[in-house]
Amino acid sequence: MQLQTVLHRRFRGERGAEFVYVASSAAILGVDAATGAVVDAFAVPGGRDQDAWIADQADRELAESTLHDLVDLGVVRPVGESPAPRATLPPMPFPLATLVLNVTNKCNLTCTYCYEYGEDRLTAGDGSKGTGKPKMDDDTARQSIDFLMRSSGDRPQVSITFFGGETLLNFPAIRVATEYAEETAKSFKKRVHYSLTTNATLLTDEVVDFLTKHRFGITISIDGDQQDQDRHRKFQKGVGSFDVIEPRIRHLLVTNKERKGRSIGARVTLTSGAAPVPHTYRFLTQELGFDEVGFAPVTAGLGRDYALGEKGYQKLLREFGELAEDYVAAALRNETHGFANLGDLLRELHQGVNKAHPCGAGLGLLGVSTEGELGLCHRFVESKSHSVGTVTTGIDEATRTAFLTQAHIDNKTDCTQCFARPLCAGGCYHEAHVRYGDATVANLHYCEWIRGFIDLGLRTYGRILEANPKFFARFES
Ligand code: SF4
Ligand code: SF4
Repeated sequence: MQLQTVLHRRFRGERGAEFVYVASSAAILGVDAATGAVVDAFAVPGGRDQDAWIADQADRELAESTLHDLVDLGVVRPVGESPAPRATLPPMPFPLATLVLNVTNKCNLTCTYCYEYGEDRLTAGDGSKGTGKPKMDDDTARQSIDFLMRSSGDRPQVSITFFGGETLLNFPAIRVATEYAEETAKSFKKRVHYSLTTNATLLTDEVVDFLTKHRFGITISIDGDQQDQDRHRKFQKGVGSFDVIEPRIRHLLVTNKERKGRSIGARVTLTSGAAPVPHTYRFLTQELGFDEVGFAPVTAGLGRDYALGEKGYQKLLREFGELAEDYVAAALRNETHGFANLGDLLRELHQGVNKAHPCGAGLGLLGVSTEGELGLCHRFVESKSHSVGTVTTGIDEATRTAFLTQAHIDNKTDCTQCFARPLCAGGCYHEAHVRYGDATVANLHYCEWIRGFIDLGLRTYGRILEANPKFFARFES
């Protein structure tokens, strides 16, 4: 019989331990050198005849049993075997886990690259004066909570995320929604987790007190030190925002620490010409005191001068690699490190995440516009072409199912031979919409970046697993 390896990636730990990442199952297998050699022997176009290969081996018995083990583990399979069928979608209607409330579509900053205000926005109207209501009213906030409670089935915990525009421009709606959710959750016997993203300009004492009291998960959009922050993140009159946000962030971090709140993260948008990632990471954690930092390459249509471009992505990979060294050093001391991108990737690798869709948008997560219209996620609200119902009439299940069916990884033929597919699944729908005008297609413009980053994650995983396997216990809860 002709046998061949399935789609996989080989990688090594620091001291030579060998691993195979199996894309069909998202499993990571530790292999000895002899088994690794068998994997490599069958990783050839067209595969090999197993009997002929066994007959060529010095120790045929060992070769045969190793090969059979690899067949049983799904690493080597008959050439031409059809992949095991997998469900297109989970049973629908799928219960919601997270609702993102866009409590305002206005902002007090005018960040050059903003998908809501910049050249790549999806919504109609003219940015902060978009066609939707500028602020969510209290009734819509309460209706959104009612909608989440009745659309989340028997989930014991749900999440409410507040987003904007600048979220805190509508603090009254956040307060109303939070207090109403606390009250309503009791009758539904659910726990509610709150989170919010803000640009930090409006973090007053009252706001900080409220957020920390309700144990919000808080993400601050900030691009780094003064120079990086003020380059793109300016007030409407063109003045940089760093001097305003710095003292407010410090106050938030100190108060949150005193109250033993959840960790607070910085989210950095990476544009062309930004400072090196390790520099920004150290500034945000060591100088300002953030617990963790996540980096996101800017979403940009073709030809934007702030877009990263091929060289920009290569530089980014090198800088991620440098910061990964710090992560490994911390992991070997059994300490947590705040490089959120890498931490999230290692968690997914350890848990064997195998995605049919790139994210929860449209599945466990929906966004709500200021007027109560439901979108696939916060980035699609007010985009009429991706509306999936309203908080009062409920989810348009036919539209939701049609989108998710179309967006399934098995329909992205370009991704068929990519080892990164269990984790990437074609990438962000919003990014695809901006780039290709179709949210359901694969983001082929950043494959090299994604594969490079996942390779970095695999190597990092192998190094840590070899030297301090107990580090991964934190990812098992
Ligand atoms: S979009 Fe690119 S990197 Fe992602 S799964 Fe598809 S081919 Fe792989
Ligand atoms: S579609 Fe993109 S922006 Fe929306 S939740 Fe998914 S990954 Fe995030």
